[in-house]
Amino acid sequence: MISNRQIFLQSLAQTSDSPLALEIEYANGIDMFTTDHKRIMDLISGISVSNLGHSHPEIVASVQQQAARHMHLMVYGELVQAPQTRLASLLTSLLPASLQSIYLVNSGSEAVEGALKIAKKFTGRSQIIAFDNAYHGSTHGALSVMGNETYRNAFQTLLPDVLHLAFNEPNELQQITEKTACVIIEPVQAEAGVRIPAKGYLQALRKRCTETGTLLIFDEIQTGMGRTGTMFNFEQQDATPDILLLAKALGSGMPLGAFIASREIMETITFNPPLGHITTFGGHPVCCAAASTGIEILLRDQIIQTVESKGALFQSLLSEATAVKEIRRSGLLMAIELESPEKVQQVIKTCLDKGMLLDWFLFDAKSIRIAPPLIISEEQIREAGEILVNVLSA
Ligand code: PMP
Repeated sequence: MISNRQIFLQSLAQTSDSPLALEIEYANGIDMFTTDHKRIMDLISGISVSNLGHSHPEIVASVQQQAARHMHLMVYGELVQAPQTRLASLLTSLLPASLQSIYLVNSGSEAVEGALKIAKKFTGRSQIIAFDNAYHGSTHGALSVMGNETYRNAFQTLLPDVLHLAFNEPNELQQITEKTACVIIEPVQAEAGVRIPAKGYLQALRKRCTETGTLLIFDEIQTGMGRTGTMFNFEQQDATPDILLLAKALGSGMPLGAFIASREIMETITFNPPLGHITTFGGHPVCCAAASTGIEILLRDQIIQTVESKGALFQSLLSEATAVKEIRRSGLLMAIELESPEKVQQVIKTCLDKGMLLDWFLFDAKSIRIAPPLIISEEQIREAGEILVNVLSA
């Protein structure tokens, strides 16, 4: 009989020639369990998604209840649906007055697409500025702003009038001018290997955008929802974006994204023409129910308040290993830099054999990614730290 693994390899499109190809039967908390009963500690959260771990009982109940009440009814924006208004009330209560209009989509890439569109129409300009080693998604617009030539060149022709600047280089900000519609940036670059800008850099960027009438877009698809120690990373930056992008952890395991701006900016898609951005499934009621329950749990259980100390504990355990060249960390998003890409791959493979899932970064082959569910306990961090330090020291 043909196995699930064979069907996976033959009939599901492959994104690389070396998928993990583990067969997972169920997942619970920070653990995933394979069909052959192996426990795998998840230190990646499916990348930065499962902040509350897997199969959180309240999220599961919320999904089941909403699915029984109703699933999809009508394209986004026509009907008043309680799961969407509950989520909008929660998000707006957490965001400043300039970020109170929320457009719900299905993914991070779609949030990027929506943001680029409203920025171009609102400003009447075409130039978009992004940064080297940025990752914003794989659709055409998102790919156009990706900060990596190898990926972009394979799929030319992309959006015209996109300029890439070096990240964290204040001198380059002068290239933002009255011709620039928007600047899109991750306040902490994730796929670049957790690159944290110097203090004052994002404020200088904010200032330059304000001076030139350019809209500032923060892609918090990976840094949002508590990952870096505050609900949104911009809260630590003294710089508020004009457009905020969320996805990944927003849906607590269900597919959901959002681009968020002022009502004035968002109205660019309401008029001339109306229906300037349409989605069938965006803001799906089951996803919104999961998202709201997830945010309520994050707040009620004060989980975000534990993120910094858990990250610091993890870092202190790993800094004991001599193979570690550098650790870059923002909350529970961590890059462990080793001497070579080969060493990274070897450590990841050995850890997987020992029942621990790690990952690398798209644009930083010399570093290991660690981004566990935010609910990971100190005891679990010590357990994971011990395995990793042993593997690194072997
Ligand atoms: N922006 C950032 C910062 C991301 O990390 C990602 C996903 N890795 C995306 C955008 C794209 O999100 P999605 O895969 O949901 O389209």
